[in-house]
Amino acid sequence: MPTYLFRCDDCGDTERAFTMAAKPDSIHCPGCQEPARSVVASPHLGVGGSPAARLIDTTERSAETPAVVSRVPGASRRRQEVSRDPRHAKLPRN
Ligand SMILES: [Zn+2]
Repeated sequence: MPTYLFRCDDCGDTERAFTMAAKPDSIHCPGCQEPARSVVASPHLGVGGSPAARLIDTTERSAETPAVVSRVPGASRRRQEVSRDPRHAKLPRN
């Protein structure tokens, strides 16, 4: 449900959630009970910094500019150990 901003000249702004169809032009101010007029503002349809929003942003970004990978994911960076045993030198190399 979107949140709308209502402004009282005396008490300031207050936010109320209404469905788009049920939103009134003014409400009774919670401070002084005088009418508080609706202020045109972007309704809070969603929270931008939520994990779900970040996941959508990352997914959309990776479709156009995928991250560069320099090695196989999960592969060990450690070099293979070289044996110094002279008998191993005689073994066939592949
Ligand atoms: Zn007021």
